Amino acid sequence: MDYFSGYISALIEQLSQLPGIGTKTAQRLAFHIVSQPEEKAKRLAGSILEARKNVRYCKECCTLTDAEICPICSNSRRDKQTIMVVETPRDLAAYEKTGKYEGVYHVLHGAISPMLGIGPDDIRLRELMKRLAGDVKEVIIATNSSLEGETTAMYISKLIKPTGIKVTRIASGVPVGGDLENIDEVTLLRALEGRTQL
Ligand code: ZN
Repeated sequence: MDYFSGYISALIEQLSQLPGIGTKTAQRLAFHIVSQPEEKAKRLAGSILEARKNVRYCKECCTLTDAEICPICSNSRRDKQTIMVVETPRDLAAYEKTGKYEGVYHVLHGAISPMLGIGPDDIRLRELMKRLAGDVKEVIIATNSSLEGETTAMYISKLIKPTGIKVTRIASGVPVGGDLENIDEVTLLRALEGRTQL
């Protein structure tokens, strides 16, 4: 039964499919959107389409960018011999905010989770291994300290060890199950500095 309007119901339905948006929030957002001037709704719809159309994966590190190679990978001052492996572009952003990390990244876009049926082929691991054929001195594994993050870290370290490249893991101290993006900069830097060799 539609109490409002089929259009609003359809909008609520679309919004509630977004991560972290429950039905109540979707309703609030939908009513907000339709109460605004049409111009505003156009701008919102426009930015969704533009972002979707123009954002792609960096050919080097797989983060989301609008250029073929992202600004970090194309920055000649960054140390290309040190690669920090993170789960998401948001984790990358958290480390970038500290302003203290000078290496480059590799974004996996997920973590291995046998429970959710996510295997090594479902994340950007092959791309990482390809990069290691180049001149790389250290791979810092900065996946989350969740079960999935630890599983992924172990898997990657086993994969890299035979190559002779140094593999390190950021120190725990990062709360278990905690997303890297929610952790303050000091904790992140401490975790990075206290990394241990695997
Ligand atoms: Zn990149």
